[in-house]
Amino acid sequence: MAYLSLKDINKIYPNGFHAVHDFNLEIEKGEFIVFVGPSGCGKSTTLRMIAGLEDISKGDFLIDGVRANEKGPRDRGIAMVFQSYALYPQMTVYDNLAFGLTLQGIDEDIIEKKVKNVAGILGLTDYLDRLPKAISGGQRQRVAVGRAIIRKVGIFLMDEPLSNLDAKQRVTMRSEITDIHNKTGATTIYVTHDQTEAMTMADRIVVMKEGYIQQVGTPYDLYFNPVNVFVAGFIGEPPMNFVRATLKKGKITIGKNTLDLSEKLGDKASKYEGKEIVFGFRPEAIVLGKAENSLSIKASVELTELLGDNTNVYVDIQGEKSILKVNPHDTPEMDSDIEFSIPFESVYLFDGETEKRI
Ligand code: ATP
Repeated sequence: MAYLSLKDINKIYPNGFHAVHDFNLEIEKGEFIVFVGPSGCGKSTTLRMIAGLEDISKGDFLIDGVRANEKGPRDRGIAMVFQSYALYPQMTVYDNLAFGLTLQGIDEDIIEKKVKNVAGILGLTDYLDRLPKAISGGQRQRVAVGRAIIRKVGIFLMDEPLSNLDAKQRVTMRSEITDIHNKTGATTIYVTHDQTEAMTMADRIVVMKEGYIQQVGTPYDLYFNPVNVFVAGFIGEPPMNFVRATLKKGKITIGKNTLDLSEKLGDKASKYEGKEIVFGFRPEAIVLGKAENSLSIKASVELTELLGDNTNVYVDIQGEKSILKVNPHDTPEMDSDIEFSIPFESVYLFDGETEKRI
């Protein structure tokens, strides 16, 4: 039996707005789940329903097989870290960490033990006497995480906890949160709009759009087996390239390129004959020049961006824009004409109407 079960969960706000539709998910004990999707897709609403901060309009939420819809936030065994984590500015790091336990009237000796243990996990041991203003943003964020994990709860919810940090601090905190998760073993649900955070931290990712789950899967699944255009375009940076074209006799034409997709489509070729399909390929899946078992495309180079480990090449395939990721030593000249190849297994085809993977 799953540890957390969300069955046909819906959220309709009092103003009538239907923010979450038929959300179904089973979460195992100790899993690190990430909800990801663009702003307004219903991630925070779902998290807040799990936390008990928002009523569930329809559906069942079970913790360890027991219905928890009506349980208050304090009775769910949940700790939460929000995007804006106000620390008490006049209290030291130690007191900020200890505050919740002190309120509960726990023994000073036990509190000290717990604070020191959590400070050790979070690398805050040397900062316990400092005030929040005298530590870095990343350290403050760790105190906020510490306040949540000190309570030894089974479920840990985080809503965009890294959004106030700069890019470098975010990278550090990402691995720290994964590390904390491994040490505490708490079941974690983490909300972000950043696909890199989702890919690097999650055991499983839930991709959402406009209140609906699009796909649930491991980072590997979502990257290599996206079920639709939305997931394919959301996971991966730079995003997957898409070109719309009509299938004629098993082929599509992009500018002056005619690509034979009959082998890739197999017996589905007849179903899509005369219909629009979406042709997709990842920027990093191409090779420059011609290659075997691939589709070759001629394009002109509009712009190149050297990033160090690779170069992003912006190309025009006679009217269609795409990005290619190439080895910096192979960076083509600006305005030159090039040919590149996409291995058959890296070609993604989607139904032009439903946008579902073919
Ligand atoms: P973000 O990343 O911007 O926080 P999100 O995916 O977490 O977005 P939610 O905050 O869950 O999105 O909001 C989902 C939708 O519900 C949005 O369209 C939002 O405007 C709407 N919404 C949120 N709170 C309320 C409310 N109290 N009343 C009515 N609509 C709301």
